[in-house]
Amino acid sequence: MAGRIREEDIATVREKARIDEVVSAYVTLRNAGGGSQKGLCPFHDEKTPSFNVNPSRGFWHCFGCGEGGDAIGFLMKIDGLGFAEAVERLADQYGVLLRREEGGPDERPQGPQRRRLIEAHAVAQEFYAQQLRGPEALEARRFLDQRGFDQAAATTFGIGYAPRDGEALWRHLREAKFSSEEVIAAGLVAMGRSHYDRFRGRLLWPIREVSGDTIGFGARRLYDDDKISAKYLNTPETPIYKKSHVLYGIDLARREMARSAQAVVVEGYTDVMACHLSGVGTAVATCGTAFGDDHARVLRRFIDDRRAFGGEVIFTFDGDSAGQQAALKAFEGDQRFVAQTYIAVAPAGQDPCDLRINAGEEAVRELIAGRRPLYRFALESVVNRFDLDRADGRVDAVREAARLVASVRDQSKVTAFAQEVSKMVGADIDTNAVLAEVRRAGRRGQQRGGAPDRTAQRPAGGGGETTAEESPGPAVVVPDPGDPRYAIERETLKLVLQHPMAIGRTTAEISVDDFTHPVYAGVWQVVAAAGGPAAGSGDEGWAAKVRAGATEPTIASTVTALAVEPIRTAREPDATYVAGHVFRLLELTVQRRIADLKSKLQRTDPASQPDDYRALFGQLAALEQHRRTLRNRIVGAP
Ligand code: ZN
Repeated sequence: MAGRIREEDIATVREKARIDEVVSAYVTLRNAGGGSQKGLCPFHDEKTPSFNVNPSRGFWHCFGCGEGGDAIGFLMKIDGLGFAEAVERLADQYGVLLRREEGGPDERPQGPQRRRLIEAHAVAQEFYAQQLRGPEALEARRFLDQRGFDQAAATTFGIGYAPRDGEALWRHLREAKFSSEEVIAAGLVAMGRSHYDRFRGRLLWPIREVSGDTIGFGARRLYDDDKISAKYLNTPETPIYKKSHVLYGIDLARREMARSAQAVVVEGYTDVMACHLSGVGTAVATCGTAFGDDHARVLRRFIDDRRAFGGEVIFTFDGDSAGQQAALKAFEGDQRFVAQTYIAVAPAGQDPCDLRINAGEEAVRELIAGRRPLYRFALESVVNRFDLDRADGRVDAVREAARLVASVRDQSKVTAFAQEVSKMVGADIDTNAVLAEVRRAGRRGQQRGGAPDRTAQRPAGGGGETTAEESPGPAVVVPDPGDPRYAIERETLKLVLQHPMAIGRTTAEISVDDFTHPVYAGVWQVVAAAGGPAAGSGDEGWAAKVRAGATEPTIASTVTALAVEPIRTAREPDATYVAGHVFRLLELTVQRRIADLKSKLQRTDPASQPDDYRALFGQLAALEQHRRTLRNRIVGAP
């Protein structure tokens, strides 16, 4: 870590930096009399200038929003720089040598001065832009044209072409009196057996920092015989280019970001261009790396503290699973960032560049305007992996969504998220049920991740609370005989195994769908395979025969249990008793199907899907009718 910049050097910077010059690079100033200058404030929206600069005092102040300070503060604010960065920038500009505390030598990175690397990039950028107009760059111009970018767009974004020659830039920079050391440190030229240009036969986007200085390039492959197969190449890490911080387009977007407290993160250079040309002036992209915490910090400097509730960061995804994965990962990251993060998913997996070509600039603006909160997108991605038309699908969906919600540290948000999940999944799962799952997921998370030492210290056999409530064991477990959810299923199967004669004709209507527990469904399948209850009529060895047909040990042992467990009636089970169970079993199935339909109906929009809606409504009416019939048969069972 470099030592602190000496106070006396900072004072020299303050003294030498001319506030009106520094501000004029960003704000148009006019004389306001009394030695003052005035302009439109870059930090808030205004129509009449209230942003004042006083060169003799070295200060600026806005009477509209109350912001103010010196040149260092201005740069920090407008370009999102740290204090030391702002001081270094001004020191470069005004020729002040910075020394560090702790008596040691200047601990700034050794090698060429930052200013020289910036200058080399300025020369390179101009050189490349010129090449784009030359005869060799036909393929590069065609690439831009196919993506809807004309010459004016190329100029705005400073796009260039790196000749295939391989040494053209090196020769040009040498003529411009740059040393080998400087151009290599800048990442523009590399050294093999001799010097060679880092980018050869590629279309180039200059990557600029907030001030507008070019600090690197992104390079698109154009030719099939390009020895480097990567579609995009970027400047390597250099003293001025840090890919974890760099955002393409930040120089164009920063002011609009500050004004609107909004930032749009897209995936590529052409997407940034398409957005800006379509009127989305806050678009940026990372350069050859995933969006990370450092990028988030850069954006925050522009969009935060303009609004009490923080700004918005909107990510565009083309809706593929990689994008969804990224969203889910972000959800588990920095919570403050999550709260202000939005997702815009383009129709049919188009990126903003495609969208502008196929549907026009309006469509790009609509894409951004149609943003959704990240948390909702993430929850929907999880929930939609399940078949919500099935009761067990809904239960699984809630369990998975609850895991995500349980990772939210801000407890004030948990209830709101649980409400969202309940709404997404359907009628039969209310917010409280979701919250119960969230608490369960939270406990499981703690057991996995937290405080293993405490668990270890607990005496062996010291209570059941150490066991996970739902261990990820085998999917099929023996049902608890006392579980009320499956009482009718169990009792019916007991009758089937113990009194096949009494159950008689009513069993014709039973199917495997009437059993919701997988083990009971399995028992019914072996019963059916043995010929059904009618086959057991008068057969002393019926239960043993059914058991012999079971290949799963869990099913076989359950058959035994069901064959010996006492029937829940004191008297001999007669036809009325049996029919009561069978019709109740069938009624439960109909009730489940009704719940499924209602849930589906709730998720069907009668306005946009009127036919689906009507069809579902018809099915629902038929099921309700069937349920009433079954109810009558239970009540009036013979
Ligand atoms: Zn202001």
